[in-house]
Amino acid sequence: MAIQKPRGTQDLLPSVLGNWYYIENTIRRLCKTYGFEEVRTPMFEETGLFLRGIGETTDIVQKEMYSFPTGDKKDQSYTLRPEGTASAVRAYLENKIYGQESITKWFYIGPMFRHDKPQAGRYRQFHQFGVELLGTQAPSADAECISLVLQLLRDLGLKDLNVEVNSVGCPTCRPAYREKLIAFFEPKKEELCELCQSRLYKNPLRILDCKEEKCQQLAVGVPELSDNLCEECQDHFHHVKEYLTAAGEKFTLNPRLVRGLDYYTKTAFEVQYTPLGSQSAVAGGGRYDGLVEELDGPHTPAVGFAMGMERLLLALEKQGLLPEQQQEDSVFVVALGEMAQKEAFRITNALRNAYVKAEMEGSGKSMKSQMKYANKINAKYVIIIGDNELAEGKVILKYMDTSEQETVSLAEITNRITELVKGN
Ligand code: ATP
Ligand code: MG
Repeated sequence: MAIQKPRGTQDLLPSVLGNWYYIENTIRRLCKTYGFEEVRTPMFEETGLFLRGIGETTDIVQKEMYSFPTGDKKDQSYTLRPEGTASAVRAYLENKIYGQESITKWFYIGPMFRHDKPQAGRYRQFHQFGVELLGTQAPSADAECISLVLQLLRDLGLKDLNVEVNSVGCPTCRPAYREKLIAFFEPKKEELCELCQSRLYKNPLRILDCKEEKCQQLAVGVPELSDNLCEECQDHFHHVKEYLTAAGEKFTLNPRLVRGLDYYTKTAFEVQYTPLGSQSAVAGGGRYDGLVEELDGPHTPAVGFAMGMERLLLALEKQGLLPEQQQEDSVFVVALGEMAQKEAFRITNALRNAYVKAEMEGSGKSMKSQMKYANKINAKYVIIIGDNELAEGKVILKYMDTSEQETVSLAEITNRITELVKGN
């Protein structure tokens, strides 16, 4: 059997890449408006970065990472990045960006790798667009990130978006809440799913967002995080909601929305696009005031989000929101005879030098078959060069939409076509 692509990966062929450019261009334009600059970090990092930056109790670290020996040092491994925040923070620290500016606004677009179970909207190599806003704990920064993601989705034409927000507290208020959770679930431990049983003491917050029906049932009546926030977190959350309202954004409160790690603090949010069904989470994010310190940097509050590009594409496709690919006006040069071929090559080249899209067929096929090719590539203009015309220093210019044709001198043809194409 011929070799096939790895499970859960995709070949992005020319026929679909236009859609990617469309989305990426929209993202880059919008990020610029919001003052975010693009960064590109390596596709793999030292495994330790993700162990610390994502957390050992997360699904990603426990079962989804692609790790391999560095080949340099024994016992040292690299991992294909499963997400972008840890790498962005590593780059922020390594390049001492915190010493150069007080607020840093970065975005990235690129492939991520997770050993997930492949299905619609879930791949092993997928792409994320993400934003990191470092250096401020202003609640307006949280609202800014949420506004950006909502505007992007709206600009792309999606309606009926739902953003859920919550506050997950901070190291001041969370430990007490954790204890309350453990006390609440402990008597029902045996009834929890296997994964949640293992989470009970390590990461009990994650039980709240378990997708298993029985765990959701067991969580009925659980003490709510929103009733257990410290004053600072309550106040912060209150202001985030006010800023969102000021920006005219609608949102829903979801007290079960969590991120179970210590360095995730305060705001958590997720954008759902329900028509996508089971893979409806398009983007997720929140505040991570403790992460930079966790990675040995100075105390730096920060907030950000990541969006799944494939899920976004699926949503746009489903709603028929992907624009038709724009065809550039193009020229096909038909050459009949050996001399004509050289001349055709010269003209094709001259057109390309002027950034006019031009093609020819070099293997001496019949007039009929060259015209067929011109039709196939949707050429708007065809230049026909035969040895006879050539002897008179002329070519035939054919307008494909009207089938009209005229004779043009060899000396004129390149300029003439360039004017026609650029004049449009
Ligand atoms: P899920 O619960 O769907 O596994 P997650 O919590 O693992 O999502 P995040 O780590 O928050 O997802 O990543 C942000 C976004 O990246 C998700 O909202 C989703 O759109 C996208 N995403 C995550 N994993 C995949 C994947 N395997 N394939 C495609 N997109 C993904
Ligand atoms: Mg996942």
